[in-house]
Amino acid sequence: MQKLEHEPCPFCKKKTLSLTEDEVDIPYFGKCFLFSMQCSSCKYFKSDVEAAERKEPIRYTLEVNSTKDMNIRIVKSSEATIKIPQLKVEVTPGPASEGYITNVEGVLQRFKKQIGQERDNADDDEVREKAKSLLKKFWKVECGDVAVKIVIEDPSGNSAIVSEKAKIEQLK
Ligand SMILES: [Zn+2]
Repeated sequence: MQKLEHEPCPFCKKKTLSLTEDEVDIPYFGKCFLFSMQCSSCKYFKSDVEAAERKEPIRYTLEVNSTKDMNIRIVKSSEATIKIPQLKVEVTPGPASEGYITNVEGVLQRFKKQIGQERDNADDDEVREKAKSLLKKFWKVECGDVAVKIVIEDPSGNSAIVSEKAKIEQLK
């Protein structure tokens, strides 16, 4: 891993930015680079992942139906959209989106964290109840009791669901 410290931060301009670059070899996907930027003054954080090889726009669909599936590797770049249509949740690319390498469990946890925050910040009882019941559904997915499809679409091609079970299509 390479690390640069005391770089100027693009936001607060202080020389407190750390940059890291890591090389990761993902089976069936290839070599990729994991970048991150972190400022200790203003807490700015950004991470992304990029394949060493040029990739085509792609869509992955994975049916998650057992606890074993929780360990399936997922590479998500900052340009990817990730969604679970049955649960009506999605993360779309934007200025704050991050790229990372995780697994199915990690993806579910990120969604749960976001829904948990919505629940905690909601003034409206109805919104809170909805968030609660959605969290219960995620729990059932994690236990393998409810099957859902996870879809990742990435016009940059820098994302992947690394599993023989995943359906791969070209994204138009
Ligand atoms: Zn800063």
